[in-house]
Amino acid sequence: METKQSMSSVNIPPPECMLRPLEVPYRYLFGPGPSNVPPRILAAGARPIIGHLHTEMYEIMNDIKRGIQYAFQTNNHMTLAMSGSGHTAMECAVFNTVEPGESVLVSINGVWGERVAEIAERMGAKVHTMVKSPGGYFTTEEIEKALAKHKPVLFFLTHGESSAGLAHPVDNVGDLCLRHNCLFLVDSVASLGASPLLMDQQKIDILYTGSQKALNAPPGTAPISFNERACHKMFNRKIKPVSYLLDMTHLSNYWVRMHVLYHHTGPVSGFFALRESLAILAEKGLENSWRQHREVAEYLWKGIEDLGLKLFIKDKDLRLPSVTTIAIPDGYDWKELLAYMMKHHQVEMTGGLGPSIGMVIRVGLMGYNCSKFNADKALTALADALKHCPKRRG
Ligand code: PMP
Repeated sequence: METKQSMSSVNIPPPECMLRPLEVPYRYLFGPGPSNVPPRILAAGARPIIGHLHTEMYEIMNDIKRGIQYAFQTNNHMTLAMSGSGHTAMECAVFNTVEPGESVLVSINGVWGERVAEIAERMGAKVHTMVKSPGGYFTTEEIEKALAKHKPVLFFLTHGESSAGLAHPVDNVGDLCLRHNCLFLVDSVASLGASPLLMDQQKIDILYTGSQKALNAPPGTAPISFNERACHKMFNRKIKPVSYLLDMTHLSNYWVRMHVLYHHTGPVSGFFALRESLAILAEKGLENSWRQHREVAEYLWKGIEDLGLKLFIKDKDLRLPSVTTIAIPDGYDWKELLAYMMKHHQVEMTGGLGPSIGMVIRVGLMGYNCSKFNADKALTALADALKHCPKRRG
């Protein structure tokens, strides 16, 4: 007689690892994101699921919209949260406002411009770039010259260049874009809530951010907003955007017209958490949040210099308060420093990204993590790593 097991149609046994409980260590997330999530936001994400098209969900989505309008300082109706990380918002902005063959101008002074240039290239845009090494920034004269030369339909700028630790000036760029009949797209994934940004006043046509930085929600949702000019361009296209999922015609039905029509299943728990993170920012007040990030960053910068280290961005006014970049100290292997801090202090800091790899160590103190107490913790870990890691030359 055949045994029960030999009659089974399942050839592949349950994996050993899946029979063990989930283990997640506690880490001090002092890199460029994600940052630690406060208990209130974690609890919001752990609420029971409801349907993504239930009335109560639409009320929560409305709260999120209002919360984003406050955080972005905009009255735009076309304000929503993407189901996906910051890259989703990046792709959504480009896919919807640009048609194949149209000219796009991308400023590159770190990894994020590189990404946007690639995204635009992949969807068939004619991509022009302005390039500076990490830490560099673009003057309004340089931007105006490039706008006049390339006549783009879209100009991209990263407000908080997290790979270099630079907060790019935004004033006057919106006016230039308006004059050159070009949409102004700004990435604020690493800067929102940490460094002043005023979407309507600064004439930003499209602005997006991520959930996992100063907002302190888990990764996976991304606020985005389009003004009237951007809506006019994206809703008067000749051909449909390349992505069905990110097509703003559908997303605006879901989020803005709130038609109870199925497009995709939104990340319900992620939206609960995002709602709560925006509520915390609203309770604290944007200006208080900007002030707190600046004060703690200045405290951290001084502590770093007191350790004999050099800050990568020399001009204080250009430093991103949420992500500080330290020039790699002479003689040290940056990977060893990071590994030491992780092993002995459970502190995460990271190296550079894209063109800044090998140039910097990045320390992020964002939102919930943004305190002098945590700055001291980061400095203690750094000092200990400098003391114990081998110094090879210099
Ligand atoms: N832009 C900036 C400035 C970022 O810092 C990041 C994330 N590090 C992104 C875009 C991409 O966001 P995500 O990883 O959520 O896709």
